[in-house]
Amino acid sequence: MVPMNLMTGSGKADYILTGQFSTKAYQEAKKYGDAAAAASTKEANFTYIPAQEELVLRPDADYVHICENNTIYGTKWNYTPDTGDVPLVADMSSCILSQPVDVNKYGLIYAGAQKNMAPAGVTVVIIRKDLIKEPMPFAPTMFNYGTMAANDSMYNTPPCWCIYVLGLVLKWIQEEVGGLEEMEKINKAKAALLYSFLDESKLFKNPVRPDCRSMMNATFVTGDADLDAKFCSEAGKAGFVSIKGHRSVGGMRASIYNAMPTEGVAKLVDFMAEFEKNN
Ligand SMILES: *Cc1c(COP(=O)(O)O)cnc(C)c1O
Repeated sequence: MVPMNLMTGSGKADYILTGQFSTKAYQEAKKYGDAAAAASTKEANFTYIPAQEELVLRPDADYVHICENNTIYGTKWNYTPDTGDVPLVADMSSCILSQPVDVNKYGLIYAGAQKNMAPAGVTVVIIRKDLIKEPMPFAPTMFNYGTMAANDSMYNTPPCWCIYVLGLVLKWIQEEVGGLEEMEKINKAKAALLYSFLDESKLFKNPVRPDCRSMMNATFVTGDADLDAKFCSEAGKAGFVSIKGHRSVGGMRASIYNAMPTEGVAKLVDFMAEFEKNN
């Protein structure tokens, strides 16, 4: 939907490749116009986020696309790239609502609900009003942001259950957690627990450059594939499910989204310490 709606000026868009989802977005965009890779950290197996100086941005591009939090690789844009007058588009699927965001810095933010917001099936889009314009002529009516905006997101019957749960989650953050500032404090504490253990560990290691670490997804390896497999199997038996890393990275990945309480992370760290002692 992003290229169909926004790649309508110069027909150019710059994509910064920091993992699988940004690469997929880039490949899709190429079907619609002149999409270029403004930087890629693939050579380093996506273990860091490129610095501003590494970005090759075209000033006449219609937008620059980033994936804010790289779910599979456990990295996060911990700075906002300067794109000048070119609107910044961000996939925030795996970090939205984890901390406050200055939406004014973005032209468009999109996020699938299934990580931090609600069950799969609904996607949230926050778009700058002036970017809602005539899409490419072949764009289906349903894929026109203007259609969604003009109809209060109810041009068709939307996924009501997901939206209802999203409403409950937003209320929970606002009324019980105390807002996104408080949510961020909790998430920072959770991530710090895990990363400080990893930094001290003689067995486990986090492969990501420290300034690019994700607060939501922490990846770690032992350096030995058999030991990784043993860890995943024992962790599973102890109730730590889905801890196996994505097949493209191997090792382990702890996804510690908003719904994961601090206690869960503390228990994981205890379990890892015990495993380290025994292995
Ligand atoms: C999960 C995710 C998606 C969408 O993934 P599906 O589960 O395939 O719908 C897109 N971008 C990011 C950053 C994600 O974490």
